[in-house]
Amino acid sequence: MGKNSCIQCSIKECKHHDMAENYCTLNQIKVGTHETHPTKIECTDCESFVFRG
Ligand code: SF4
Repeated sequence: MGKNSCIQCSIKECKHHDMAENYCTLNQIKVGTHETHPTKIECTDCESFVFRG
């Protein structure tokens, strides 16, 4: 699967990462939060992340 130019990502530990470049290979991702009231960038998560293992 090739990179999705619309989704930049630097998380190479994720199995959906392009590896060659800093892009995701999924057609779409889901972004969510682990906080009740997110107020900072650190509060947001890519919920499509899967550990490459
Ligand atoms: S699923 Fe999320 S964390 Fe994984 S490569 Fe795509 S954008 Fe990055």
